[in-house]
Amino acid sequence: MAERADRDDLLAMTHVGEDPHKYMKAVTPPVFMTSLHVFDTVKDYFSVDIFKDEYYYGRASNPTVTILEKKLAALEHGSRAVVFSAGMAACAAAILAVCKAGSHIICIRESYGPVQHLLDEFLCKKYEITVTYVEGKTVKEFEDAIRPETDMIILESPSTLVFNVVDLEGVAKLAKKHGIITYIDNTYSTPIFQKPLDMGIDIVMHTMTKYIGGHSDLIGGVLISKDEEFMRKVMVQRDWFGGVLGPMEAWLAIRGLRTLDVRMQRHYETAMEVAKFLEGHPKIKRVFYTGLPSHPQYELARKQQKGECGLMSVEIDGSLEDIETFVDNLKLFEKGASWGGFESLAIAYTYNWSDEELAFHGLTRNIVRLHCGLEGAENLIDDLKQALDKI
Ligand SMILES: *Cc1c(COP(=O)(O)O)cnc(C)c1O
Repeated sequence: MAERADRDDLLAMTHVGEDPHKYMKAVTPPVFMTSLHVFDTVKDYFSVDIFKDEYYYGRASNPTVTILEKKLAALEHGSRAVVFSAGMAACAAAILAVCKAGSHIICIRESYGPVQHLLDEFLCKKYEITVTYVEGKTVKEFEDAIRPETDMIILESPSTLVFNVVDLEGVAKLAKKHGIITYIDNTYSTPIFQKPLDMGIDIVMHTMTKYIGGHSDLIGGVLISKDEEFMRKVMVQRDWFGGVLGPMEAWLAIRGLRTLDVRMQRHYETAMEVAKFLEGHPKIKRVFYTGLPSHPQYELARKQQKGECGLMSVEIDGSLEDIETFVDNLKLFEKGASWGGFESLAIAYTYNWSDEELAFHGLTRNIVRLHCGLEGAENLIDDLKQALDKI
C-alpha cells in the first residue's frame, strides 16, 4: 500500500485557499464566471495588486483560479502556483521564462512527445535553441552534456512510456553548481507521491488533465516553484500570452483535488496487482512499472516516491498482428491516448513509429501502454486475460 498523503497535503486538497465566509458560507466555492471586476474610483482601479489576490481582468487572475493555485502551491511546497489552459502551455511558459535565443537545453530522451516537438520543430528552428537528449539514468550523463550556454534541464521522472527514473537530488545539485534551472514534469507521481521542489528541483509542472482533474473532463496545466520572484514573472508572462485556465476548469480541478489521495491509493493498489499478473504471463516479454522490484531503478523510485500511479507499459511477445488482436479485444480498457482519469485505457504506443523513432528510444513496435482506472484489479485482470488468450 502507498503511504498516506502528508497531513498538510490532506488539508491542502480539502480546505486550503477556501473561505466560505466570503461566499455566503457555501461549502464549495463558486465558479467566478466573470471576465472582469469593476471599481468605484480611479484610485481603486490603479491600486490593484494581482499578486495579493486582487482582481481586475480575468486573463490576469480570477478568484476561482486563485483557490486552485493556493492548493497546488501548498501541495508542492512552492511559494506560488500559476495555472494554464493546458499542460503544454505551462511547459512552454517555463521554457520561455528560463531560456533565451541561443540557450542550450538538456532534456531526457523519454520526455513527453509534444515537448520534443516544441523544442525541435519550433524553438530550435526559430530561436536557435539547441537541445541535447540524454537517457538520464546517471548524473554523469547530465554533467557530460553541460555547455557554457546550458540554461535548463528538462526532466520527467518517472517518464510515461518506459518509466525511467532520474536521480532528482543528484541532478539538482549538479545544476545548482552550474547555475542551470531544473524543471520536472511531475504528472506521473502527482504532488502527493513526489515533491521535487524539496529535492532541489527549481520548477514543477503538472498537466491537470491527468490525475489532478481525475475525471477526463478538463484540460489544464500548472507551474510551481519556491522562487516567488520567478513565479511572479511567470504570472505576468501568462497575462501577455493569454494562456490562463478558465474558471470552470479551475473549479473542476479543485473538485478533482478533493479525492486525489483516495483515487491515487486505489490506482496504485490496482496497478500493482495488474503489473504482477502481467509479469507472470507467458505472452508478456516485459512490464515497465516502477512499482515492481524487477524495475532496474526500483530502489531509486522507492527513495524518491511515496507511491505509483496507474500507468504502465508492456512489451508483447508476438507479431504486430498480435498487438492489434490484444488491444482490439480489450473490452474494459478503452483505446485512447490519455490517462489519469477514472477509466482504464490501452494504446499500442509504438505500433506505427518510424524506424528512426524506434532506434532513438531503443524500443520495438510491441509496446502497449495501459492505464489502470478505478474499475478494480479483478475486472481489469479478467479483461487482460481474455484479450491475451486471443493472441
Ligand atoms: C498529457 C501530458 C502532458 C500534456 O498535458 P496537456 O494538458 O494535454 O497539455 C504533458 N506531460 C505528460 C507526461 C502528459 O501525459
